[in-house]
Amino acid sequence: MPTVRVDDLRTLGEAIFRAAGATPENAAGVTASLVGANLAGHDSHGVLRIPSCIEEIKQGGLKPAATPTVTHETPATAVVDGGATFGQLGARLTATLAAEKAKALGLGAATAFGCAHTGRIGEWAETGTQEGFITFAAAAGEHGPFQTVPFGGRERALGTNPFAWAIPHASGAPPILLDYATSAVARGKLLVARDAGKAVPEGWIIDRDGQPTTDVGDFFAGGALLPFAGHKGYAMSVIVEMLAAGLSGGQRTPPGEHDSCLFVACFAPSAFGPADDFAASVERIANRLAEQPPAVGFEMVLLPGEPETHSRREREHDGVPLADATWDAIMRVARELDVTHPAIA
Ligand code: NAD
Repeated sequence: MPTVRVDDLRTLGEAIFRAAGATPENAAGVTASLVGANLAGHDSHGVLRIPSCIEEIKQGGLKPAATPTVTHETPATAVVDGGATFGQLGARLTATLAAEKAKALGLGAATAFGCAHTGRIGEWAETGTQEGFITFAAAAGEHGPFQTVPFGGRERALGTNPFAWAIPHASGAPPILLDYATSAVARGKLLVARDAGKAVPEGWIIDRDGQPTTDVGDFFAGGALLPFAGHKGYAMSVIVEMLAAGLSGGQRTPPGEHDSCLFVACFAPSAFGPADDFAASVERIANRLAEQPPAVGFEMVLLPGEPETHSRREREHDGVPLADATWDAIMRVARELDVTHPAIA
């Protein structure tokens, strides 16, 4: 399993995307998000995606040099057309616009449609916290391909429909971050398990006959993901899709084209009362939880977002460990595109 320095991953990723037709800005924007996902510990949304992005560019579905545009705007809201380019670019514009609106009004929201895969959704919630806003982000597509069964169903009818909430820490510490799929796990984690040749835990997937299984191959052979926490994850998934795909007008994207949609909302604590009171409350709650004695088998109680922070600290320093299959696939596309780089010498 190679461990690759963060700078090498960045320059290699950018070089591959440029060689595949991306503008330098687009190449840098998408690579920053992919490497950022690896740093946060979510390898499922990191550089593992480079080969599939290149394949989509080859097939003509992903436009590497296109630019997302704003199609509708009010003082409080905006709608972005992702332009079928890298979904992280439309998502970044959407998150930035929601924060700009909140700066002016105390509340702001924006949606996007027509995006390719929007990556680690936590990144779009973290964007708002950089301006001091509580931020919600939700992502879904309307046309599929679907991966998840509804609670009580046995056929795929939902995406993995992730959502994130981020709360700023006034002390300058990284935000409190909730960020997960409404399926038992992100589909990308099944790709990671497949690359690593590992079984998945019980409760993640069913096979094509609707039977529980831990063989990740059963998912790719027509099985499906289960919603997290049964009816609770299923209900959240429905709301996420209605917010993201419904509000953005995602249904206007023709079937077969990139139809990932995003909804981002920012709330200024100061729009509700003294911002310092809110910050003090966040600190009190966080401290109470951090002081809890750990249960057997745990070292400590973590706050949501701390696993990402710890991973970032470690990987910035030590580099990013990648499965052999992931690294081999990246090297293969690099060679196909005549990209030379010291990391693949
Ligand atoms: P996950 O199950 O790894 O859960 C991650 C969340 O749980 C984070 O908020 C993390 O801080 C928190 N957490 C984990 N361990 C914790 C602990 N011990 N104590 C406290 N909090 C803890 O998430 P997932 O469902 O596998 O999703 C992984 C990533 O995939 C996310 O970044 C998500 O946005 C992304 N995703 C994206 C899409 C898309 O279409 N763009 C689809 C699905 C998932």
